[in-house]
Amino acid sequence: MMGQMRDCGDPTKGGDARGRGQGRSTPVRRLIRVAALASLCGIQVAASAADGVEGGFTGLREINPPAEPDPGTASAIVGATLINGLGHAPIADSAIVIRGPHIVAVGPRATIAIPAGARVHDAAGLSILPGLIDTHFHNDTGDEPTEMPALILSRGVTTLRDPSLPIRDYDPVRLGGRPMPRCFLTGRHFDQEPHAYPHDAVAIRSPDEAHAAVTRHVAEGASAIKVYYRLPLELIRVTCAAAHERGVPVTAHLELVDADVAIRAGLDGVEHVTSFGTALATPEAAEHFRGAVRRDNEARRDGRYRLWAGLDPDDDRRARPLIDRIIEDRVVVSPTLAVFERRGGDRDVEAYHIQGFRNMLRFVGQCHRSGVPLVVGSHTAVPHAGRGWAYQRELELLVECGLSPGEVITSATSRGARFLGCADRLGSVEPGKLADLVLVEGDPLADIKIMRSVRHVMLNGRWVGDAPRRNP
Ligand SMILES: [Zn+2]
Repeated sequence: MMGQMRDCGDPTKGGDARGRGQGRSTPVRRLIRVAALASLCGIQVAASAADGVEGGFTGLREINPPAEPDPGTASAIVGATLINGLGHAPIADSAIVIRGPHIVAVGPRATIAIPAGARVHDAAGLSILPGLIDTHFHNDTGDEPTEMPALILSRGVTTLRDPSLPIRDYDPVRLGGRPMPRCFLTGRHFDQEPHAYPHDAVAIRSPDEAHAAVTRHVAEGASAIKVYYRLPLELIRVTCAAAHERGVPVTAHLELVDADVAIRAGLDGVEHVTSFGTALATPEAAEHFRGAVRRDNEARRDGRYRLWAGLDPDDDRRARPLIDRIIEDRVVVSPTLAVFERRGGDRDVEAYHIQGFRNMLRFVGQCHRSGVPLVVGSHTAVPHAGRGWAYQRELELLVECGLSPGEVITSATSRGARFLGCADRLGSVEPGKLADLVLVEGDPLADIKIMRSVRHVMLNGRWVGDAPRRNP
């Protein structure tokens, strides 16, 4: 089963055009760039865009904006415990007022005036959160193209990023006429031959080709660029510069180029915990792994477990400078742990698979404790989750790494929005944000498994499926 699972990767960091190579941009310079980008996109820089500045890129757009409700429609959701996605203390017995697609008021129910004529929904006993953001979703499960996006939407994922499928492959999702998660796309990943996934790859052989491909992808709707593991360092650098000029971030799946070196070349995000393997291993072990992968793409599948089983994620000589680099360059990490999960009792599992995965969990825990921004990428189909539950499995594994459930929810919402460059509109329950909401039964701050108990989903101010019961 695993042999069939893809493991492309790209990461994410919401990105402004950081002054890579000359150290970080000043906040003022970053703000100017954000404002310039926003005006290019024809949008106003609102006060809330400051959040986006902190996280990097902002004003980036999905290819399929959802249908809007009647702008005059007002509704309210009352009685739920609000978890706002920003890590603030939850608000019991909350009220959220929505007009058209926007949240217009949020707070304890006793303090919020419900507009006359608003439809009022009773959500007592539920927790209400921002819609979930899946930063690493592959729509290639062999289903009809709208099937899996619709399924994960029903489970609370209102925004996704696909880091490799050609943009036109999303036409059925975009044009299908049914509610779909907001789809942020990268287009085909930048790679060299022999491609592990030819359908998803564009071969980049020169700086000119990198520039041209970035321009083409962005023109077609890409809101990020993903680089794949055969792209050499110098072309990663050119790609990052070209993408930042156009206001989009670059995220990467790495096997051959060490992560610290690739980050210095300008990456905004790293997809997959395994992308850090060669930077953490001894030089000898890393070179052995690289040699095998250069000869045969398939060698990475088993080889990465042997590599990770043999390294020490707490070895400060290697882990510390790497983590410092990630933090200094404000790179976002989308670990996609669930796709790599191996446990005792799994079919064909060996001791090095189990130890390798254990070390991946430890490294992600280290990153978190050190302050690396983590986001949640499901990878769509994973060994230890049923169909459509990969995202929730990733949430659970992040708790196993040492994040609190509340921190995981922040990663799944506002952090994910910053990584995708849409925190100006999405990722938190605040006045001015779009009403993408998920309601679960129980308290996910006490037990992250409650995130599987989704009862209602709102997308852009409209209910997907059943609404909570209306108060008379
Ligand atoms: Zn992938």
